[in-house]
Amino acid sequence: MKPVNALLAATGTTIFTVMSALAEAHGAINLGQGFPDTEGPRDLLDAAAAALMDGRNQYPPLAGVAELRQAVAAANARFYGLTVDPVSEVVVTSGATEAITACLAALLDPGDEVVLIEPLYDTYLPTVKLLGAVPRLVRLEPPGWTLPHAELAAAFGPRTKALLLNTPMNPTGKVFTAGELGFLAGLLAQHDAYAICDEVYEHLVFDGARHVPLMTLPGMRERTLRIGSAGKTFALTGWKVGYVTAPRALAGVVAKAHQNLTFTTPPNLQRAVAVGLAKDDAYYAGLAATLAERRDLLAGGLRRLGFGVLPTQGSYFITADYAPLGFAADDAAFCRQMTEQARVTAIPLSAFYAGTAPARYARFAFCKRPAVLEAALTRLSAWIGHAGAGAGLQAAEGGNISAA
Ligand code: PMP
Ligand code: GLN
Repeated sequence: MKPVNALLAATGTTIFTVMSALAEAHGAINLGQGFPDTEGPRDLLDAAAAALMDGRNQYPPLAGVAELRQAVAAANARFYGLTVDPVSEVVVTSGATEAITACLAALLDPGDEVVLIEPLYDTYLPTVKLLGAVPRLVRLEPPGWTLPHAELAAAFGPRTKALLLNTPMNPTGKVFTAGELGFLAGLLAQHDAYAICDEVYEHLVFDGARHVPLMTLPGMRERTLRIGSAGKTFALTGWKVGYVTAPRALAGVVAKAHQNLTFTTPPNLQRAVAVGLAKDDAYYAGLAATLAERRDLLAGGLRRLGFGVLPTQGSYFITADYAPLGFAADDAAFCRQMTEQARVTAIPLSAFYAGTAPARYARFAFCKRPAVLEAALTRLSAWIGHAGAGAGLQAAEGGNISAA
């Protein structure tokens, strides 16, 4: 038999699925894959249920139902002062995952270069490669995750077609400042490149930090594709409703990609998300405030246990250094052993780097009920005490956690 696609054949199962399966197998509290352990808002569930029953269950329009496209345009105006035409500048997709692929497909020809910032979300690199484009990786390093200006400037060149930017950033919790975005905007303008902005955590921002879409910076409106996700904004990650906001010329091509990927997205979910985007300011404030409390609970607990907890200003995630505990295992082995022995699951930071990752960091999701976070901390405390600061953990170098 002839070989199947080499890239996909060589791609392992996503770390999120691998770690969730391991958590299940060991009865672990799953602070790995990022999903809330409560339902999203009741009014959205009711709206989706009602929409399911009112006879609009055939193919919706290719670019999304009118209600949702209008709601996305209105949300752009309300939150960021962006004027967006709902008819020609919004494309609804089946999750941000599809939106990322559709935006990359819309822009890239084989051989084009794409600037990516590590640590990076796991679909970015395989998708860029599958399209025959050339990734140019620039690394951020803990603990500061500072933007390396010289490396970024060096990564841009005449073949740069696009930058793929994630802010608020998974897994670092970094929220890019207006100054950092200004620097990136300068490079984009200088090299006449596009920006694909993965902003799925746009409303999950803490401590008075403000999410600034790159699209709002001078000169960026015409070259930016901005991606949102109802999964994150409404704590309904299984719904897989995403939305792209882009200038007309780009949105039309994104719609062509969407047409070939999924064509449409379930209409009842789209209509419920439209209800969600119109929710009052108290909803959005409450969403961020609740998550900030949970972040504080988990961060404080991990810090008391001896982890080196890095600050997080946005997203669902805390990155923590376990080296101060005395554990010598690499991050994949550490997360596996923590799952098996402590029965608490996290994601190894190395899953977000293409090359060698910074040593000994794990990502913990805090989008869980306080009692669940407390229970996880209790388990970790018992484990760390029992393991005697690392004595029970073997330095299982090379322990391969991905199910390649
Ligand atoms: N981008 C980032 C940075 C994410 O963390 C996620 C995870 N959910 C996605 C995209 C995918 O979002 P969706 O579930 O809407 O496809
Ligand atoms: N975005 C989620 C995370 O980072 C996972 C989504 C997925 O499992 N594909 O944990």
